[in-house]
Amino acid sequence: MKVHEYQARALLAEAGIPVPASRVIDAPEQAAKAFRQLGAETAVVKAQVHAGGRGKAGYVKLVASANEAKQHATRMFAQPMVSAQTGPAGVKVRKILMAAAVDIAKEYYLGVVVDRARRTPVIMASSQGGVEIEEVAARNPGAIKKAWFHPHLGLQPFQARALAAAIGLYRLQAKTTADIMLKLARLFIEKDCSLAEINPLVQTPTGEILAIDAKMNFDDNALFRQADIAELFDESEENPAELRAKEHNLSYIALDGNIGCLVNGAGLAMSTMDIIKLHGGEPANFLDVGGSVTCEGAVEAFKIILADAKVKAVLVNIFGGIARCDVIADALLRAAQEVGFTVPVVVRLEGTRVDVARQLLKEANIPQLQPATDLTDAARQVCAAV
Ligand code: ADP
Ligand code: MG
Repeated sequence: MKVHEYQARALLAEAGIPVPASRVIDAPEQAAKAFRQLGAETAVVKAQVHAGGRGKAGYVKLVASANEAKQHATRMFAQPMVSAQTGPAGVKVRKILMAAAVDIAKEYYLGVVVDRARRTPVIMASSQGGVEIEEVAARNPGAIKKAWFHPHLGLQPFQARALAAAIGLYRLQAKTTADIMLKLARLFIEKDCSLAEINPLVQTPTGEILAIDAKMNFDDNALFRQADIAELFDESEENPAELRAKEHNLSYIALDGNIGCLVNGAGLAMSTMDIIKLHGGEPANFLDVGGSVTCEGAVEAFKIILADAKVKAVLVNIFGGIARCDVIADALLRAAQEVGFTVPVVVRLEGTRVDVARQLLKEANIPQLQPATDLTDAARQVCAAV
């Protein structure tokens, strides 16, 4: 689960990490007042959306007057933000953060994630923080220093001091930054984060260290024990089809292609997408109905896929283990009745009760249904169909 910068800032502040004063507004008329309330000579107007790259997109703007604040807020609320991390349609801005501007001498990067290869959390730090961090990571990975830590023991003070020194900090700034690293690593563990990032962490000309942007993602599977975090969920930032799928316990992720995929099991979903691409097609989604799918769940899955106007054909790829092929066949027929198939639906079923399933489909005699003999045949058929 993602949260907004203003929510992540509040969590950082709670953890004792220094964050400049800020205010959140949800309409352009509130901008001038918020600017005055901040009482700073200059402020920064920042769109609150669950996508990064705001600075480069023009959605982080320094302003020197209440009037200027209002102008930028008006523009940001009116025009969806298009950045490297959004689609071409962009994302609508519903909230804006106004923060006191900070004089910046240097920008650092701090981030905690799980290192999957090492199966342990890792804190990363760089002296080249700021809006170019992706390029730094790609071109000069050596500029990103790392320290791995045990999830129960946490980041150790000596590790934090070494990391602060490794990014060129010394004396008071090294001490302050090491302290921020320890707090960030603790926050990551305590709140079940999958990402806790401060970019940039800035040093001011007078030597202060401040977090001026924050990004935190949380492990969905841990939300049951993080009630305060779960409350930060912002439905309006989610893809409506993905939300609908979640309500029915389906894992659905919208993609850019035109072949809808209905699959059981994440591994099978991945290989289905691979084989579609191998045959020159592009998946429109990743939809995993799970192992213990019910007929209702599968019908809902079809409805979600068919509601996507981009979908020009569907590939149903089911391996019946715990899930039964006849349940899926039944769901297919119900979906055909309830929504109607307007595009070809290629069906590859294998496993538990597949004979019953094939018989059901055959008897139904639906012209859009195309049975496939195996995975390769299915991929060829669906790619030909689009
Ligand atoms: P994003 O990461 O989405 O581009 P940031 O909040 O990191 O957004 O802002 C981008 C850049 O804008 C920062 O790297 C920094 O240079 C500048 N900036 C952001 N907030 C402030 C602030 N409070 N004072 C001064 N400069 C800021
Ligand atoms: Mg940033």
